[in-house]
Amino acid sequence: MTATATQTYTLGEFHQFEGGGRRFLYLVPAGAIFEMDEAVATVIGLLKSGQSDHDDLVGRVAAKGFSYADADELVTELSRARVIVGQDYVKAPLDPPPADFPLQSLVMNLTNQCNLSCTYCYEFGEDKVATPEGKPKFMDLPTAKASVDFLLSQSSGRNTVHITFFGGETLMNFPLLKQVVTYATERATEQGRGIDFSLTTNATLLTPAIIEFLSENKIGVTVSMDGPADLHDKLRVFSNGKGSYDMIAPRVKALIQGHRTRPITARVTLTNGVTDVLRIYKHLKHDLGFHEVGFAPVTTSPDRLYSINERGMDGVLDDFHKLADEYLEYALRGEMHGFSNVSDTIAELIQGVNKSHPCGAALGLLGVGPSGDIAPCHRFVDSDTHSLGNIATGVDREKQADFLNRGHVNNKYDCQTCWARPLCAGGCHHEAFVRYGDTGHANLHYCDWIRDWTDTCLRIYGTISAHNPEFLEQFAERKALN
Ligand code: SF4
Ligand code: SF4
Repeated sequence: MTATATQTYTLGEFHQFEGGGRRFLYLVPAGAIFEMDEAVATVIGLLKSGQSDHDDLVGRVAAKGFSYADADELVTELSRARVIVGQDYVKAPLDPPPADFPLQSLVMNLTNQCNLSCTYCYEFGEDKVATPEGKPKFMDLPTAKASVDFLLSQSSGRNTVHITFFGGETLMNFPLLKQVVTYATERATEQGRGIDFSLTTNATLLTPAIIEFLSENKIGVTVSMDGPADLHDKLRVFSNGKGSYDMIAPRVKALIQGHRTRPITARVTLTNGVTDVLRIYKHLKHDLGFHEVGFAPVTTSPDRLYSINERGMDGVLDDFHKLADEYLEYALRGEMHGFSNVSDTIAELIQGVNKSHPCGAALGLLGVGPSGDIAPCHRFVDSDTHSLGNIATGVDREKQADFLNRGHVNNKYDCQTCWARPLCAGGCHHEAFVRYGDTGHANLHYCDWIRDWTDTCLRIYGTISAHNPEFLEQFAERKALN
């Protein structure tokens, strides 16, 4: 008697979705997508009413018009794929990443100073975790060079590594940025490796010379911008309360015009009163000309005036759906739409992402502050509580292991039964800390929202794969643009 013949089957863990007239399963333990034909649907339909042993299930499938041999093969195949599971199936917890996981990206916060005073800023606002008192305000060249050396030494096996320049306002330390690009390119070239750069800026300090440098050096640019003037100026203000839109709009146009070597992205922070996703997208994409626009609700305690309440988040989701429909129309015509929230999720689906952690923080990615202190990511830079060491002395492996252990999806009880966990894995560690005081807490305040949005992206993926599968080829290499 074979092992399968003694099994009693129940349904495995999957999420069913439809797209383009076809039916699919999102297989949760594998983070994989499986197209469901009539035969598969028959097996699932039979097991929905209760468990069944192998011979009984094969017989019932055969009775639906399949040959006995085909039915037997199908049941065995579905068991292998974990669409259905036998009584001896044990859910395997995701392995923790190896202790020597190589670094891929370093976020260098060149300064912790900023020329804006955005009300919601996680670095300076009411929810800040940074403790910059007594630390340098600007990174110096020796620290920057040591950071580059650190990245190259800690990334063995990677052909290409990545540096993201961050702030404060990154361009307040543009002279250092230029030196780092030169130094890092030389060091990487000596090692026969590639290095790629990007920066995030509020765009207030962009000049034609800076734009030329960014374009010449193929530096990817993300601009923090919240929409047309009336929305952008609500919270993105100078210290005197004046909005920054008028200053940045012409600079952004010049950037998009002058920087021809990489797509330029807008990153929108949604807040109470700044939730009109469709109008914001239209302005940034069509009036200003950004190539891509990505949206993220503000990270904050729920009692802040600028936090978005449940009704506001429902409105955001409605607008996301509308923009996603538009994305789909474009994709079916073979055109790329600029709504990066969809592109990022589709890329993860295609790459079969099955996350042990929500993001690369403290894993393939680290942040380094002006003092050389190492943090899990840019949002924790300058925070004594979350420091993982210093560029001069290296990573404190115990602290890193503790951070990763707490943030592992296996340790988030509520996520264990959630079908969205291969992509979400509990959500941003920084948001978890701001909300719950623990970087390892699951971000349970938006689970329904996340599941709805993930289902939307799955349906878009399914429809494109049914009607224009070639369109999906371009996502194999894409990394999320956050
Ligand atoms: S945080 Fe919520 S949506 Fe995300 S994996 Fe956990 S339970 Fe699912
Ligand atoms: S998702 Fe959160 S913890 Fe992860 S890199 Fe982004 S800000 Fe940092």
